[in-house]
Order: sequence, then structure tokens, then C-alpha cells
Amino acid sequence: MAEVKTVKDVDFSGKKVFVRVDFNVPLTSTCEISDDTRIDAALPTIQFLIERNARVVLASHLGRPKGEKKPELSLAPVARALANKLKKPIVFAKDCIGPEAEKAVNALNNGDVLLLENLRFYAEEEKNVSEFAESLAKLADIYVNDAFGTAHRAHGSTEGITHFVDTCVAGLLIEKELDYLGEKTSAPEKPFTVILGGAKVSDKIKVIDTLLEKADTIIIGGAMAYTFALANGKKIGDSLSEPDKVDVAQAAMDKAKLKGVQFLLPVDTMIVDSLDFGAKTVGNTQIIEGDIPDGWEGVDIGPKSTALFKEAIASAKTILWNGPMGIFEIEACSKGSFAVAESVANSNGTSIIGGGDSVKAIKSSGYSDKVTFMSTGGGASLEFLEGKVLPGVAALDKK
Ligand code: AMP
Repeated sequence: MAEVKTVKDVDFSGKKVFVRVDFNVPLTSTCEISDDTRIDAALPTIQFLIERNARVVLASHLGRPKGEKKPELSLAPVARALANKLKKPIVFAKDCIGPEAEKAVNALNNGDVLLLENLRFYAEEEKNVSEFAESLAKLADIYVNDAFGTAHRAHGSTEGITHFVDTCVAGLLIEKELDYLGEKTSAPEKPFTVILGGAKVSDKIKVIDTLLEKADTIIIGGAMAYTFALANGKKIGDSLSEPDKVDVAQAAMDKAKLKGVQFLLPVDTMIVDSLDFGAKTVGNTQIIEGDIPDGWEGVDIGPKSTALFKEAIASAKTILWNGPMGIFEIEACSKGSFAVAESVANSNGTSIIGGGDSVKAIKSSGYSDKVTFMSTGGGASLEFLEGKVLPGVAALDKK
């Protein structure tokens, strides 16, 4: 990563180091952590700072308390999980600013770790109110941002605070994210295959447009593919689509032709005549090629598409995947996404999973160990892949 300074560029010994992490973990109804991936992703930076005798002050948001102190969105369970993982006590401060937080931070010894209470218990965090950011800065000699998942938002703890702290650097996770989503996809080892799926063309069109400049092959799956099918004059029955984005889809295909980028759409589809997302069940199913009849909905790519996509994935040296091939949350509609997960995992190239539902899909497929990198950012990774500057990264010290 060429541009911003990282934790590797700073001496931390004896310093109060405010680390913005992403501990926005999913919780069960009894406030148990149901997936601790995000905690694990923050561990390398925390350990790095402990080893360098920093006084580590961790801050994060959790859920959407909208400026209210909601006990069910307390970070206390995360402090307990973190203590177990690090095998050391974690001090938990019941506030993220003010006298209580300051007292707890000032009592830390070198190598100690403290976790502040949920930043979003204050509405000023998301509004990026300067006084709030300044209060956070009182807890910091040095600022480290390692929360890639919120780096696309200019909040008090991701951008505001950097105006009040002299040294602001990236953590190891952000460094890795920028390396894989940035460097490795902007100057990819070729051939470069990009797989995009998910619900909406409108969410990903800018990514498609940016990656059409660099990719050798773009594969489209998921509901997105039906808007492209409409552009190609196909009938799509009751499938999810965006008819007002047909021209955008057509423009992407035209650009691909112009640039000599192979543009692969599904050649067959699994369709259902009914579906209950809540119950995770489907009615009658068929695999068809060509037009989808009325009363039927496309829910996954078919076996011929899977084979076609597999070939393009196997020959790639760099692979980027964002978005499932179908309604992978329902087992009956998950075959296509899981088969693509398998192809990506088995490839010899660098495989990068661009956050959100594709990470969920690759985890439930059981192949996550075999991919090179899984992004922790959903929206942030998409915005970054679009070529946007992330405010939480732009605010850090330049090399
Ligand atoms: P995204 O957040 O844009 O990556 O979209 C992910 C969502 O797209 C998942 O919840 C999928 O269930 C959904 N999805 C993928 N394929 C389809 C499809 N054929 N019909 C409806 N939803 C789909």
C-alpha cells in the first residue's frame, strides 16, 4: 500500500493509542455473539500494539442505537469475547467519552487493553460533530483506523477525530484491505476474472464500469442477470429485475465489447413457481434455457452456467467475487453460489471475496479457508472497488 502510513511506521511505546475497530458483530436475541469474524479480523493490530507496549483504547459501533444508550447494544459481550481470545483482562469503559472514559484510559499501563462503550450511543458520532470528535481525541496520543467496514463513512471516530490527533495511521486490517481490493485489483495479475452477483444492477453498475477497464472476463449472476437478460430481449417471468436499468446494462455490455472484455451471462436458470423466503422453501422447480415463463421466478444459475463460469474462473490468475449467484439463503437455490465458491476456492490464482453476502456464501459453502482474502467491508468494499476515495482512509497521514 503506497499511500497512507500504517502502524508499522510509528513508535507506540507508552502511548495512548485510540484504535477504531469494527466490532459490529451480529448478536442473538439474548445478546450472544453469533459470528465473531470481525473480532478475529481486528486481533492482529491489537496484538501488534500490545507487543509494542501501547496503551490500547478500542472503539467501535454496534448496531443502530441511533444516539440512545440501548443496553442490548452494549459492547460488553465483545469485551468478554476479546478477553477470551487475547487471554488477558480487558478493561470495559461504560462510556466512550467524558470523565469515566478518561479516568479509565489514564489508568492503563503499557500493554493494557480497554474497550469503550458503543460510539453510536451518541448521535454526534454519525453526524461527525466536532466537539464529540475532540472528546474522543482526549483519549488518544495516536489514532489508528482499522475499521474498514466503516471507512466509507466520515464519522466522528473515522474522520472527525483525525483533526485533533497529530499521528493518524492505518491498522493491519485496513492495510490488507487496501492491498487486496486496491493494488491487486487495479494492477491485477492477468487473466483477471470478476464475478458479480446479488440483487441489483444499480448497486454494482459503477463497480462493473470501473472493472471493465481492468478485467479480462466479467461474469454476471444473481438477480442482476435478469436486467441484462431484459436488455438482450429475453423474457424473465416474475424474476427480480430493474427494468429502468436496462439501458445501463446495455451500456455495460457495449463497453465490454468495445474493450474486448469477455462478458458472461447465465445460459440456464433454475426457476420456481413459488417461494417462501421466511420458511426457506420453494414450490416446483425447473432448469430452463432461454425465456422464463410468466408465473415463474429465476432463483439460481443452472448447471450449464456453473460449468461455463467454472472454466473462466479456473484459467484466471486474479479473481474477484462480489454477490451471490442466487437466493443462496435458501438451500434449494444455493447450488450455483456454492459451486462458484468451490471454483474460486480451487483456483490457483489470487482469490479475493469482496465483502457482504459473498463472504457469507463462501463461508456456508465450507471453502473459506482456501480463498486468498475475504474483505470485511460490504458497502466500503463496493465503494472502494468503484474507485471512490474512502473518507476514513483519506484522513490518515500520507507516507
Ligand atoms: P447483494 O447485497 O446485492 O450482493 O445481494 C444479495 C442478495 O441478492 C441475497 O440476499 C440474495 O438472496 C439476493 N439474490 C441473488 N439472486 C437472486 C435472485 N435470482 N432473485 C432474488 N434475489 C436474489
